[in-house]
Amino acid sequence: MVKAVFAGSFDPPTYGHRNLVERAARLFDEVLVVVALNPHKEGLFSPEERLAFLRALLSPFGNVSVALCRGLLVDFVRDEGAQVMLRGLRNGSDFSAELELALWNKELAPELETVFLPTERPYLLLSSSAVRELAAFGRDLSPYVDSEVASALASRLGPTQGAAGRV
Ligand code: ADP
Repeated sequence: MVKAVFAGSFDPPTYGHRNLVERAARLFDEVLVVVALNPHKEGLFSPEERLAFLRALLSPFGNVSVALCRGLLVDFVRDEGAQVMLRGLRNGSDFSAELELALWNKELAPELETVFLPTERPYLLLSSSAVRELAAFGRDLSPYVDSEVASALASRLGPTQGAAGRV
């Protein structure tokens, strides 16, 4: 049994995240998707909202579950009995940040392995922050996130009537 933990902010979850989970669900016996809370970053959506979005997005995958982590991730992964920490790679800057994180995690928990999956072409430019930015300009978000997430983004960040004009 190999269990993988895929942790992130998921603020909000996108189809890029879902693609990674779908592929991981074929590679590992169990995948646990974890909303990892950063005490220095409040985020747009509450942890409970992000969990609900993830549950809806990932419901088609039978061996995938969702949880919240408020502490140090390696401790959480150990407690869950997982062996793998999964991360996605889109480009060189993801790689340098992710390599550093993986090496720190190795230092803290040598028995755990980080596995990277490269993104696929349709998701190369997709990030939670790009989606938040598009929402602020009232653009169509349906290619990137679930409709429930798109509505939540529009009501929280969408442009107010008439605010898009020249200043
Ligand atoms: P964090 O704030 O921890 O980077 P994110 O929610 O932004 O959390 O991302 C969580 C993980 O998902 C990271 O490993 C990131 O590289 C990966 N990821 C995010 N978007 C994509 C995408 N479009 N394709 C592949 N991996 C992605």
